[in-house]
Amino acid sequence: MKPLSLYIHIPFCIAKCGYCDFNSYALDTLLEKGHAEEDWARRYADALTEEIKSRTEAFSLEGREVGTIFFGGGTPSLFPAEETRRILDLIAATFDSGPDCEITLEANPGAAEAERFGALREAGVNRISIGVQTFDDEALKRLDRVHTGDDAERAFRSAREAGFANVSLDLMFGIPYQTIEAAAHDIECALGLGPEHLSAYELTIEPGTAFHARQARGELNGLPDEETALRMWELRDSALGDAGYERYEISNFAKPGFACRHNLNYWRRGDYLGLGAGAHSLMAGKRLWNHARPDVYAQNAADPTVGKERVDDPQKALGEALMLGLRVKEGVSLGRLAQECGADPEEAFGELFRELENSGLVARENGRLRLSDKGTLLANQVLAKFI
Ligand code: SF4
Repeated sequence: MKPLSLYIHIPFCIAKCGYCDFNSYALDTLLEKGHAEEDWARRYADALTEEIKSRTEAFSLEGREVGTIFFGGGTPSLFPAEETRRILDLIAATFDSGPDCEITLEANPGAAEAERFGALREAGVNRISIGVQTFDDEALKRLDRVHTGDDAERAFRSAREAGFANVSLDLMFGIPYQTIEAAAHDIECALGLGPEHLSAYELTIEPGTAFHARQARGELNGLPDEETALRMWELRDSALGDAGYERYEISNFAKPGFACRHNLNYWRRGDYLGLGAGAHSLMAGKRLWNHARPDVYAQNAADPTVGKERVDDPQKALGEALMLGLRVKEGVSLGRLAQECGADPEEAFGELFRELENSGLVARENGRLRLSDKGTLLANQVLAKFI
């Protein structure tokens, strides 16, 4: 049995960023509305421990090997380190998570004091992913971020001082009024810090966000046109490639040996258990998702499932495996997919493969299918064809 991945969602933030469509809530607002208590962190950690115990029993997971653990958000670095340790101790006592287990925690500059990093490292976290987005203070304000570029540099240095040898930075491009020179400067600043991993993705305007509402009112100005965005993609790929980072997924780059194993497990459609408010799981051909609101989640922590769907129908499983697997640079082995999903990809999608190949969007070599460079630029449109 392949190792399991665990995802733990911490849905609290200092403030809500205008572009954010994650299941995250400004903590002050939750407290004001009575949807969180003063001791919110302890109560939320209690709910997580209850969920871990009930899921372990429901899926007979005791002693199962866990290869990766990921605290995502929201802002997990806002969560007290002692509560993170409590969760990790319970995981260690319940599962087989050996010394090789990759344990990532997302941190935001401004919610990531040096002291907390030290305690997190001691609790067992061995990878930090810092949400920098940009080093330009004006651009950060436009994104409603609550930190500065200097805060981001300080957070990185604090992570190093605390002993983290595996640090990832998130960068965003296509920010309103961002020029190509400004995007280049961000990459330069990030490279100057020398992280092991970089996620560099384009701003997208998602429904339900404040940016989407502003766009609908015609008030979101300064977004780069298609050609400028394309030049930013090219600049990103060449600058990071020249600096020795390999692009192993559409938006993810790593030095050799530092690709994020947790995310690779998602893209390879491995089993993962999502814990916390709004978290999704894929377990033994079944997808489940939890109540999104933290208070409703906590009230139902013994079984917070609000939805489930079987995804082991061969056709559906194939479509999903292609949509996820093609994100990775190496693409997918069609033979392996046939074995794993119980259906022949050629029979199910042969016509679409040929159409995409003729348009130069995918390439087939040695039984593998992968996105071409052009297909990578148009990945969202190409991948949507498989669902
Ligand atoms: S810090 Fe991250 S999760 Fe929180 S609101 Fe901003 S983008 Fe969303």
